[in-house]
Amino acid sequence: MREKKVWSFRAAILVAAVIVAIIMVNQYMRSIEAELKNEMQVTLHDVAEQTSTILRREIESEQDLLVGLAKELAQMDPENEEIIMETLKPLAEIYHLKRLGIIDSQGIAYTTDGYVQDIGFREFYRKAMEGKQVVSDVIIDTIGEKENINVFSVPIYDKTNEVAGVLFATFQTSKFRELMNVESFGGRGYSYVVKRDGTVIADSKLAAMYGAENMFTVIRNYDPSNKEAVEQMMAYAEKDESGFGSYRYEGERYYYCMPLNLTSETENGVEGGQWYVFTIVPAEVLNERLNPIMYDVQRMIVVMIVILVAAVLLYLLSYQERRRELMKLAYVDPLTEGDNYVCFVHKITEKKNLSGYLVSMDMGEFKIINSTCGIAKGDEVLRCIWGIICNNIREQELAAHVNADRFVLYLQRENREKLVELLVALKQEITALSVQLNVPKAVPYYGIYEVTKTEPVEQLYSFANQAKQLVKGRRDRCYCFYEEVDYEQILRNKELEDNFDEALKTRQFEVWYQPKFDTQNSKIVGAEALVRWRRADGTMVSPGSFIPLFEKNGMIARLDEYVFETVCSQQKRWEREGKPMMPISINISRVSLYYAHVASKYKKIRDDYDLDSRYVQLEITESATINNSDIQKLIRQFHEAGFELLLDDFGVGYSSLASLNTMKFDTLKLDKSLIDYIGNDSGEKLLYYTIRLAKSLGLKITAEGVEQETQVNFLRKHQCDNIQGFYFSRPLPLSEFEKLVA
Ligand code: C2E
Ligand code: MG
Ligand code: MG
Repeated sequence: MREKKVWSFRAAILVAAVIVAIIMVNQYMRSIEAELKNEMQVTLHDVAEQTSTILRREIESEQDLLVGLAKELAQMDPENEEIIMETLKPLAEIYHLKRLGIIDSQGIAYTTDGYVQDIGFREFYRKAMEGKQVVSDVIIDTIGEKENINVFSVPIYDKTNEVAGVLFATFQTSKFRELMNVESFGGRGYSYVVKRDGTVIADSKLAAMYGAENMFTVIRNYDPSNKEAVEQMMAYAEKDESGFGSYRYEGERYYYCMPLNLTSETENGVEGGQWYVFTIVPAEVLNERLNPIMYDVQRMIVVMIVILVAAVLLYLLSYQERRRELMKLAYVDPLTEGDNYVCFVHKITEKKNLSGYLVSMDMGEFKIINSTCGIAKGDEVLRCIWGIICNNIREQELAAHVNADRFVLYLQRENREKLVELLVALKQEITALSVQLNVPKAVPYYGIYEVTKTEPVEQLYSFANQAKQLVKGRRDRCYCFYEEVDYEQILRNKELEDNFDEALKTRQFEVWYQPKFDTQNSKIVGAEALVRWRRADGTMVSPGSFIPLFEKNGMIARLDEYVFETVCSQQKRWEREGKPMMPISINISRVSLYYAHVASKYKKIRDDYDLDSRYVQLEITESATINNSDIQKLIRQFHEAGFELLLDDFGVGYSSLASLNTMKFDTLKLDKSLIDYIGNDSGEKLLYYTIRLAKSLGLKITAEGVEQETQVNFLRKHQCDNIQGFYFSRPLPLSEFEKLVA
């Protein structure tokens, strides 16, 4: 879950970074575009201004010329047209005018090229007669060659300063075009001079190709969406304002509108009002400028993205690598190189709807492998066990090495029978390892908890462990389900543990004595000290209920010491009282043997009581000799401390006649399970040879758990030294034992 969150967070950051980058690039492009647009506006404005300045100068110089001429004409007789024409003719040529002419007060025009015509209806005549300087609209020349012309007219004043007539000059409109060819935008820009209603007065050469009589009408017809653009143009014209705008035609076109603003005198006389210069350029010019920048930016973006992606990939790779290492440290078991417990917990927590079996698995007596074959061999066995587990579990099932010889499994089998089948198969493969690897047998034990609902893994594992405790060390069964765990037992154990200290202090632990008898003459020759717990409420608890528990938690060491000291003290008392003295053996748990300086500790206690070493003997179980690799050293130390050692429970578990030779015990105690063979042929043979071998090694023999006469007879026949069993006596409390001995 956390993993997912982290990745979505990273993805979100990456996406956000990309979005921010895109926004920034977009912003940058926009600002470049705005800059270019601005630059284009400035250029459009400059071209429009240049154009209008040129035109204005031209018009004004024509007007000035006419005004000057008109003043001179005022000195002449206005009726004498011939003389006037003679004066004007050379001037028309000099100033490249199509013609010059005068119009009298009746509206009759006389021209330098010899025409006489009534043009009293013309606007430029009437306005000039009103005293205005006029530039006419474009009109078609009715005289001579039919072409577009503009007529400049000014009033001629007589001596009384009354308007006596009009002086006019005919100007070929095409000359405006020559003046308007201001080079702009690499020849892509063009201009119109229009009237307020859009009528085209003049246009540049390129504009002429679009052929327009009325610029507004034409633009409006280009595209329906141009309606607003034209309204804007008209608004500029209406208010005599300069302004920038665009309309659609073969893409988009930008224009700049500028009133021509002839001098007020002349302006008054412009026919049809103000003239406007519109300079236009197609938007693609802007794009053409923008595109190379765009390409650069795009290239830059591609490079940046490549670098970014490469950086992210590199980071992810190194991150993955680091993560893998960390995961390995955190989740991989160094011994098996498979999952460890942490990983197991992690994986099982990720599973939804848990249903299956959580199995805690332990090897019985695995320590023997380590102690007899070495840690390296032990590790090899564990790796093989791991291999067997991995080969037998299914894909969705889980397993992990917890520590030492402990494993945990999560198995999803159809039912309990199938599960047990698998566990038994595992056991077979694992026990077969002993032959393959030439090591003592490792036998797995399983505690099983059936998972029906989601619970903390630690809880499940603890349930499975509790179940396992019930079968560990058992030979008849290797698995146990949690349901079989006796809660009462767990609680009872807890109660016993809690009360141990108090019980020691208040001497609730009693020592009972089970006498040992000479096989031949049935006389008491000694006893074994056996502990009993008399609880505060008077009930008696037998050692079977608490010894295994105290062995598990280590309390046994203190109990053994307590029993030993009690026996020492009792022997001393009997000695002082002059009672018959005989050796008493005390049980020392194998767990007690793991504690340091155990031999010297027991010697010190005995010495403190100043007791002869022959009166206290020590019983050590056979399994202790297998598990504690230092047993030979320990035996030597006990012997050096003067203790006689009895090998207890011989015949239970790993019976090894060979060990009799290596372990220098003094007495062999045949376990009840061997004694019970009496009556069975091969069993008797085994007993017979065991006794023979022990005797030949110089060991004394005590038979335990003798209950029947036939057993006594057999033992007597085969020279067993002593007998301890219910046949002669049960373990007795102190007082009864004293009575018996007396
Ligand atoms: P163990 O040392 O083998 O002691 C002999 C056990 O066999 C005693 O059981 C005794 O009562 C029982 N027994 C003797 N003769 C017969 C018989 O004819 N028939 C049957 N059925 N049983 C017989 P107990 O007293 O219950 O002790 C059980 C075990 O508890 C002992 O086995 C010993 O291993 C352990 N134990 C007892 N006291 C101590 C102690 O102070 N320290 C340690 N570490 N272990 C002790
Ligand atoms: Mg014993
Ligand atoms: Mg015994």
